[in-house]
Amino acid sequence: MTTTAPRGLTIIGAGLAGSLLAILLARQGWRITVYERRGDPRIADYESGRSINLALAERGRNALRQAGVEEAVMAKAVMMRGRMVHPRHGTPELQRYGRDDSEVIWSVHRAELNVTLLQLAEAAGARFHFHRRLHTVDFDAGYARFIDDRDDSPHDTHFDTPLVGADGAGSALRAAMNRKSPLGERTEFLDHSYKELEIPPHADGRFQIEANALHIWPRGRYMCIALPNDEGTFTVTLFLPNDGEPSFANVRSGAEAQALFEREFADAVPLIPDLRRDWEQHPPGLLGTLYLDRWHQGGKAVLIGDAAHAMVPFHGQGMNCAFEDCVFLADALAANADPAQAFALFERERKPNAAAIQQMALDNYIEMRDQVADPAFLLQRELEQA
Ligand code: FAD
Repeated sequence: MTTTAPRGLTIIGAGLAGSLLAILLARQGWRITVYERRGDPRIADYESGRSINLALAERGRNALRQAGVEEAVMAKAVMMRGRMVHPRHGTPELQRYGRDDSEVIWSVHRAELNVTLLQLAEAAGARFHFHRRLHTVDFDAGYARFIDDRDDSPHDTHFDTPLVGADGAGSALRAAMNRKSPLGERTEFLDHSYKELEIPPHADGRFQIEANALHIWPRGRYMCIALPNDEGTFTVTLFLPNDGEPSFANVRSGAEAQALFEREFADAVPLIPDLRRDWEQHPPGLLGTLYLDRWHQGGKAVLIGDAAHAMVPFHGQGMNCAFEDCVFLADALAANADPAQAFALFERERKPNAAAIQQMALDNYIEMRDQVADPAFLLQRELEQA
């Protein structure tokens, strides 16, 4: 028997993985509905004007290529041909990743990338509902409750399709699945956190430091990195222990942060004019690894990206891995009429891969933490292998 009715899928989360999966499936003719907690990023600036970026490696580019969106994304990417290591004293030195520019990684602006993917998904036919935070799911009755965080109003929605949890590390769909049938969930947090700062461009819009490099200030148990954005800024990320000296426990005020930078990252200080203000306004981010025994609940629900396997960022691979998930899941759904089989195949194939990358990222963190000699090398080695 053949059917002309399109198959449907409901995706929770219009982030990087949710939007890419929506493109892939909508183009295959699926009826795709996406619910997103935040407002439409094309209307509201959902990161309060902050530029956050990510390293895109061949693994992720390959997934974008298969989804037919590589060109649109790469138009705004900044090439990083090597690491620019900033020693405590002396001149920064560029260490190329490869012989030539065929071996490079790319810096992509998270918000711009998200908007690009979202637009392509909508153009492919996916329907997006913003300001809809998944709250609870009644899998048996086929109802999901969403909350509009602007006024706390509940919105109960009937669904007759499988659900895909692309709602990130704190996934509400995962919590709902776990309540129905335990997933064997555990999260291990690191004793380091991170804080993001910004290097603005020169008055004429030019980058203040070498644009085509991933800048690193390696300092043993802690370090700074800076990735370029296409508008001339750099996003600076400081990784610092939660306790000890120095740590987030004793570097609290903007003045204390300024003192830390003057002592440890002196050449970065004149580049970050709003260091004190940004330090006090940006909360530190936690770093952890999420482990699950199961990623799916029969043919009713499945988890992808950070919702399934959040990892520490010392490998620069979370997004790249999430993109690979999308391609694999779309292929599995195309090859299997029964979503339960597709989800089982997806879990079987992707779970060991994600676990391997999670472990490599953790190993790298441990090495970096203890290797005072050159932690930047270790981070970069992993980025290069991506
Ligand atoms: P997310 O990007 O978190 O998207 C989840 C979406 O779901 C969001 O839009 C969110 O608003 C929405 N949502 C959440 N809850 C709900 C709900 N209840 N209902 C509806 N919607 C909801 N990866 C790399 O590949 N390269 C890097 O260089 C890199 N650097 C990183 C640096 C840091 C400091 C960190 C923390 C991570 C880094 N990562 C990097 C990892 C990368 O950010 C993630 O792996 C990636 O964002 C995962 O995409 P996702 O779509 O699964 O989740």
